[in-house]
Amino acid sequence: MKINFIDLQSQYKKYESEINKEVLEVMSSAQFIGGSKLNTLEQSLATYCGVNHAIGCSSGTDALLLALMALDIKEGDEIITTPFTFIATAEVIALLKATPVFVDIDEDTYNIDPSKIEEKITPKTKAIIPVSLYGQVADMDEINQIAQKHNLIVIEDACQSFGATYKGKKSCNVSYIGCTSFFPSKPLGCYGDGGAIFVNDDEMAQKIRIILNHGQDRRYNHKYVGINGRLDAIQAAVLNVKLAHFDEEVSKREEIGQKYIDGLKDVKGIKTPFIKSDRNSVFAQFTLVCEDRQMIEEKLNNAGIPTAIHYPKPLHLQEVFEYLGYKEGDFPISEKISQKVISIPMSPFLTNEEQQYIINTLKRDND
Ligand SMILES: *Cc1c(COP(=O)(O)O)cnc(C)c1O
Repeated sequence: MKINFIDLQSQYKKYESEINKEVLEVMSSAQFIGGSKLNTLEQSLATYCGVNHAIGCSSGTDALLLALMALDIKEGDEIITTPFTFIATAEVIALLKATPVFVDIDEDTYNIDPSKIEEKITPKTKAIIPVSLYGQVADMDEINQIAQKHNLIVIEDACQSFGATYKGKKSCNVSYIGCTSFFPSKPLGCYGDGGAIFVNDDEMAQKIRIILNHGQDRRYNHKYVGINGRLDAIQAAVLNVKLAHFDEEVSKREEIGQKYIDGLKDVKGIKTPFIKSDRNSVFAQFTLVCEDRQMIEEKLNNAGIPTAIHYPKPLHLQEVFEYLGYKEGDFPISEKISQKVISIPMSPFLTNEEQQYIINTLKRDND
C-alpha cells in the first residue's frame, strides 16, 4: 500500500473539471492580477469567517508580515509568541527588527499558555501572536483579555487552522487580525503560494491593501513602504472551487481525526491530540506525542507509512535566534514536546482502508 502524507492528487481528481474551467477562464481573460476571481474569493472568505474584510495575499508569511507592517511594528518593539511553531511566525517579527519574546506552551494543546503571558509584558510590548497549532484555535478569550488590559494587539497565526471553530466563531475571526496560509498542504490550499488577512476595522483593511501593493494608494503615488504581496488570479480561481467544497472536507477531517483518536486510545506510549470541548480542530497535522519517537517512526516508515516532525527544534534554540540569548531549559514544555511529536498521514481523502492499516501498524506489538 502506498499512502500519501497528504493526498492532493485525489482531491484534484475529484474537483478537476471545476478547477480546470475556472483556471482556463483566467487564462483567456488575461486578468492575472486582481480582477473578478480575486474579488469573489475575498467576498466568500469574509462571509465564511464572518469578518468584514478578507484580503488575499501572497503567502501566510506575508500575511503576518503585512499585519505587523500595518501596525507600524519597528525596531525595539516586542512581540509575544510561542517558540513551538513554524519559523515564519517569529521570522517576520525579526525581519522588522522587532524582538520575538517567547512564552512556553500548554502541555495538552501545544498552544501558547495564556497564564505565562503577563509576566513577559513590558512597556515595549506591542502585540501577541498566538498560533492555532495543528488546526486547533489557541485560548483566544484569555489572550484577548490580557491584551485588552495592557492595550496590545492580538494577531492570530491561523495558518494551520482555517475552517476551525472556537466557541461558535471561525478561526481568523477570534482576534483583531487573523492571518492564514493557502500553501498547498494547508487545510485550504491553492496550487502555489497564497494567504489571506482578516480584519473588521475598515481603516486597517485599507492600509493593509495599500501596503501589499507597494504602499500605493493611487497609481504611482506611494504612501507607505510596502511590498509586492498580492494573491494572483489563478490561485484565487483554484481557491474559489476548493472553498465551495471546504465544509465537506472539514467534516471529513473531523471524522478521520476522531477515528484516529478512538483507534489509538489504548496504545501504550502514544498520546493522541487533546481537543478542548468548546472548539474543534481541522487537523492540519495529525500529531502524536510518543514516549519513544524513533521506535514509532521506524515502525511506520518500515510499513510504508510516511511521517513528518512538526517541529523538531523550538525556535528559541534555532541558530538564527541565538542573538536573543535564550538557552536550553528556558521553555521546558516546548523542548520536551519537540522531542516526542510525530505527524501521521491526514487528509480528507485518506481512505478507510489506509487509515485502518495505519492504526493497526501502530497497535502492533514490537517483536
Ligand atoms: C505554514 C505556516 C506559516 C507560513 O505560511 P506560508 O504560506 O508557507 O508562508 C506561518 N505560520 C504557521 C504556523 C504555518 O504553519
